[in-house]
Formats: sequence, C-alpha cells, structure tokens
Amino acid sequence: MSSAVLGYPRIGPKREVKKALEAYWAGKSSVEELLKVAKEQRLLTYENIKSQGVDVVPTGTFTLYDHVLDASNTFGIIPDKYAKSGLNPLDTYFAMARGHQKGEVDLPATEMQKWFDSNYHFLVPEVSEKTNFRLNDTKPVDDFVEAKQAGYNGRPVLVGPITLLALSKADADAQQKEFDPVSLVSKLTPVYAELLEKLAQAGAEWVQIDEPILCMDRAAQYAEQFKSTYAALSKAAPSVKLLLATYFGRLESNLDFVKDLPVAGLHIDLDRAPEQIDTVVPHFANKTTVLSLGLVSGRNVWKTDLNAALKTAQKAVELLGGDKNRVIIASSSSLLHTPITVKNENKLSAEVIDWFSFATEKCGEVATLTAALKDPSSASSILSANEKSIKARRDFEQNSDPAVRQRLANVKPEDLKRQSAFKQRREVQNKHLNLPLFPTTTIGSFPQTKEIRSYRARFNKGEITQEEYEKFLEDEIKFVVEKQEALDLDVLVHGEPERNDMVQYFGELLDGFAFTQNAWVQSFGSRYVRPPIVVSDVSRPKAMTVRWSSYAQSLTKKTMKGMLTGPVTILNWSFPRADISKEIQAKQIALALRDEVNDLEKAGIRSIQEDEPALREGLPLREAEHKAYLDWAVAAFRLSTSGVRDETQIVSHFCYSDFANRQIMQSILDLDADMISIENSKSDAKILKVFQNFEYANDIGPGVFDIHSPRVPTSEEMFNRLKAFSAYLPVERLWCNPDCGLKTRSWDEAAAQCKNMVEAAKRARSEL
Ligand code: GLN
Ligand code: ZN
Repeated sequence: MSSAVLGYPRIGPKREVKKALEAYWAGKSSVEELLKVAKEQRLLTYENIKSQGVDVVPTGTFTLYDHVLDASNTFGIIPDKYAKSGLNPLDTYFAMARGHQKGEVDLPATEMQKWFDSNYHFLVPEVSEKTNFRLNDTKPVDDFVEAKQAGYNGRPVLVGPITLLALSKADADAQQKEFDPVSLVSKLTPVYAELLEKLAQAGAEWVQIDEPILCMDRAAQYAEQFKSTYAALSKAAPSVKLLLATYFGRLESNLDFVKDLPVAGLHIDLDRAPEQIDTVVPHFANKTTVLSLGLVSGRNVWKTDLNAALKTAQKAVELLGGDKNRVIIASSSSLLHTPITVKNENKLSAEVIDWFSFATEKCGEVATLTAALKDPSSASSILSANEKSIKARRDFEQNSDPAVRQRLANVKPEDLKRQSAFKQRREVQNKHLNLPLFPTTTIGSFPQTKEIRSYRARFNKGEITQEEYEKFLEDEIKFVVEKQEALDLDVLVHGEPERNDMVQYFGELLDGFAFTQNAWVQSFGSRYVRPPIVVSDVSRPKAMTVRWSSYAQSLTKKTMKGMLTGPVTILNWSFPRADISKEIQAKQIALALRDEVNDLEKAGIRSIQEDEPALREGLPLREAEHKAYLDWAVAAFRLSTSGVRDETQIVSHFCYSDFANRQIMQSILDLDADMISIENSKSDAKILKVFQNFEYANDIGPGVFDIHSPRVPTSEEMFNRLKAFSAYLPVERLWCNPDCGLKTRSWDEAAAQCKNMVEAAKRARSEL
C-alpha cells in the first residue's frame, strides 16, 4: 500500500516561477535563469510532498505554462506556423502559449479553453491528418530522471492520448468539419509507446496516465479506441505499470469498458463521486488491479474529514478481499487547483485557518490516511484533532446566520417573477428611459489606469485616508461621465474605478466570505487568481454600490446603469462551502443582491445590470446534471432581480457563452432580463439566428467591437455589423455596445472605439 498525489501547484511558495517567467518574457532575464528557478521549484515541490510523508511524487506535472501544451510539444503537435517560425524550441513553445510579436515574427497565441469544469485554462492542441506525431522532446523522461537523481521515487504523469485528442481541435489542414481528432489515436499511440519504453529504461515503476475524459458522457463513443490504445500501451513496456487516472467525476457506464482495460492500476475520484466506492470498487474484487483512491480533494480548500475518508478506504480494502496492497491513498485529482500552503496566510484568525487544507496540507492528509489504514492507532491523535476541527467548522457553518436561512426558506415562487411580462414592462420602460433606436451603452468598466491602481494600492497600505480615496473615486467617476456625455452615449456607466475585480469586490463587502493573502490558484500560464472563499451564510451588511451609482446619476440627466455581478458568477469564481449545496449558496448571494438591486431602484437608478459571464462555466460535466444546474442558476438570477417595479430595466451580460447549446440558450431566455449584451465581435452575425429560432423577444446588444484588442474598427465596420444583426432581429430590439468592459484598454483606444461605435449607431438609426 502506498500514497501519492496526482500533481502539485507550479507557482512556487513565493511566486518564484511566475516572477521568473515574467522576467524572461520581458527580456529581463536569461533562459538559464528561468530554467534554474524551474529546477529549484521542481525539487522543492518533491521535497514538500515527501516531507509530508507521501511515498510517491508526481513528475512531469511541473510546467512553464501548461501541461497540455507540454504534451503537445512532447508528441510533436506543433502547427506549421510555429514549427517554421525559426524560433528556438523554448520560444516556439511560448509563442504557442502567448503569441510572439518581434521582428519578422508575428504569431498569435493558440486557443485557450477551460480544463473540464475547473477555472484552469489549457491550450487547445491543433491536429489534422497531416500532423506528424513524433517524440519531439523527452521532458517526461528528463523530469523523472532529475527526481530520481535527487533521491525521489517519482511517478511520471502523462496526459492520456484519448483525452489529449478529445480536447484538440481540427487545424486549418483538416479536411472536413466532421473530422474527429480522436480518429488519429492509432497514429499517436506508437509515440506514447516509444515514450513508455524510454521511461521504463530510466527506471520508472509506475506511469500515471490521465484520462479525465472518462468522466464525461462523450467518452462512451471512444470505447473501442480505449481498448486498442491501452492494449498497445500495456505491451509497449511490460516492466512499467500503468495507472489510468480518472477524476473530476464518475465513470458511470464508461466503467463497462474501463474495468477490462489492461492496466495495472485505476485511479477514481471519491471526492467528487464518493458513491464510486459502491459502484466501481466491487467490480475489481476478483481482479488484481490496484485501485488508487482519490480521497483528498484536489478541488477545494477544506480540511478532509479524515475519519470518514478512512472508513471509505477500509471499505475499499474489504471489498478487495482484505488486500491492503491493492490500494493507493491519493488526492482526488492534481492539487494544481489549490493554493500551496496555509502557512502563507497570516491575516486569517486561528479559528478560520484551522478549517483549511491547501496543497501541502493535503499531502499530509494523504500520508495520515495511509498510516491510519496500515495501523489505525498510529494516527489516532491526528484523527481526533481532525474530528474536532471538522466538527467546529460544521458547527460554525450551520449556525452562522439563521436569519439568512429563514429568509431563504420563506422565498415564494412570486419572488422569482417580475410584476408584469416583458411586453408590458417594455412599454413602461420605453416611456421612462426614452431611448433612440440602437441605444448605445458600454458594459461597465472604463480603463483601469495606472493612477487608479496606484490610488487603490496606497489606500490599501493606509498611505491615504478613506476620504482622500473616495474623493479620488468621485473625481474619476465624474471624468468618466463627462467623457461619455461628450461621446454622446445613451445609457451611461460609472466606470467601476472602485473595483479591483468584479467578484472580489463584492465578496469583500458581503458577510460570509474569507480572503487570503497568498492563496494563488493558476488560471493560465503565469496568471493566478485568489478566489474568495465562502465560509458561512452570506448576507449584505450594508449597501455596496448605491453610493457610487447614485453619485454618478447625480451628474447626468441620462440613464445611469447600476452595475453588479450576478449570484452565479460570484459563486462560480469563488471556492464554495462543502457542507451545503451550491444552489443554496447561490440563492443566499442572490438575496443579498436583491436588496442591493432594490436599493439602487430606490436611489433612482432606472437600469441595473447584473453580469453573469460565468453562468456557462458552472455547467456540470455530465449532461444529466445540466438541467438541475441551470434551473437553480436561473432561479438565483431571478431571485436577485425580480424585486423591482416594471419601469426598472434589468440587464445582464455574457462573455464566452455557448449559445449553440440549447439548454444554455433556453436558460438565458429564462432569466427574463429586459436586455442582455453578449460578446459577438469575433463571431459572425449568424449566431443571432439562434436567438431568432428561440423567438427571443427581449432586447439584445451583440458586441460590435473586440475589447481585448487595441484595434479601432471604423464606424463603417461597426455599422455593417449592426446591419448584419438586423437581418435576424427587429431593429427595435437591437442595442449597440462593445463585447465586454473596457478596463484593459487605454483611454485613447476606448474613446476612439466608442466614438466610432456611436457614429455607427446614429447611421443605423437613419438607414436601417
Ligand atoms: N461589468 C464588467 C466590466 O465591464 C463585466 C466584466 C465581464 O463580463 N467579464 O468589466
Ligand atoms: Zn464580459
């Protein structure tokens, strides 16, 4: 019996890797310096894991950017334009990761997508029949050898071939649309086989092959490919034992073929899918397969209930005929989705700190469980301390705010409904708002200038007073309002200068959230976020935005849009509690927002926007769960926005949504917002056909320019977009706005873009 973790954060305890990368990209340090930091951090990671008592360290999971991109690089999945760029291998790698614009070379980054249902983004491999799969580098072997030489017992980790291809997209060379990248697996498998041989020669005993795609419905269609691929891989290097790792969910019917794959070990996620102890483990009773039990969550920040986890482990051993050597105690997934250590937190109270377990502490939990499974008495003091801690947290959570619970229990169906249907509301709003055709507006933020960031930093450090800071914000809002009036926009915004981040800002003002100093979690590459943590029932101690919105409204006769982040997005971009459902948490946040929305209305705000860009992100991996999720997500949004009168306009906003998905589309309609704005400038107008097909009758503003780019499209170009939209939807319902907020633009860019946008709308009013 042994213990293992499936992967570990890459940032370094003091963000060493992030800093080294950014210095290298800025031309401020050499390749050697970068690689030196990387090596130090790899070895430090092994040391951290080992010193917590875990037997096996994962090798190859450290990356300079993304482990999926590493796999593409190793297996030769490099589109021609990068391969032939003339850049050295490391810069070619970074060019695929983040683009390269220097001298003659002008390469865009490859596409990013979310890694299953996490907030980690990977770079999408691009393949076609022409892809020349080959062993392009030996990083997995090198990393293993490096660990071995330093005295660590390593288990190389590879992204599995079918997951890798299932996450790929067809590149420009692919012949037809129907092309499924997984059809290339028979060409890719021999390269994996070659790599396994090399790992065997280097002395690897086990190799972990990650196939999280097995926790999705679509893996079922790849049953035959799984059989033939793993048959080939198991023969490739007979001395190596393959551990097939599945995580983030349950195998369900995919178990039918997974249970007979010729692998020495199978890892299952018992955190996300605890029922697999009963649905999966018994199928292995009469086999020799080793089961790796993912008992310590790789996805949350909470201490594991070790006594419960130990019971599960004991049950597994029993089901496997009492043979303890047939189990490995493990984290449920890679720990990359958790921060490094709670030791870096010094502002949280001892009581709160005691609830948490980050990557390093989770390693300790894995080791404790392993020791306890060998000999329960050996860990008894840790187990009883853990029991006390878990109980204290449960008590705190369960008694944190009875008033909030009572309020939620009293919610009635009519609380989720506006007073009248959209048609009537629209009439009242038309009179109240008095807008032209193609009303122009923006999505909320205006440039977050250096000055704004520096004032915020100085305020946070206590270098300027609250009054000074607020005076600065008011001046900033005044500036933004004047700019918009000069540009002749119709519905104005206050510009969000007071917000560090659209979720953190609200989390800090609400009760029930905890904030960390150093709990960074990778979003992509060198970008890390510190998600707020929901620790108890959520409520709003006082109004959050009314002060800024009403000040902004006082400066203009035009409609000033109130600006909030929606309940689903606040929750999806935080670490949720583990003791109650996400549904309850979202609805508690919704009630807090409902009060804010109502207060904004009372303060004379006529239009209120609640952004929900993360609605799509929270979609569960299994289709059978989509409906339940979308139902409560829609309910939470409606609960937060339905308390207003008919004349108050409710707006929502979505970037990166998937309008091709019928269920998501239906949910967006079900929000019953009076107007929605969507990211659209990079898609063609045809996606509006979906809205047409759904008979979407409320107002919509598809983006007319890309806010990520400094480029200023001409008013002609934007007019043509409006014209294209009008082929699908009546002009009376179309708005004219950018894709998203303008916070990353400079004022020169934003002003020029808005000027052309307003011009385009004016022309549309007379010509369309
Ligand atoms: N109101 C936010 C902004 O303009 C919306 C951001 C988002 O959708 N990601 O910045
Ligand atoms: Zn957006």
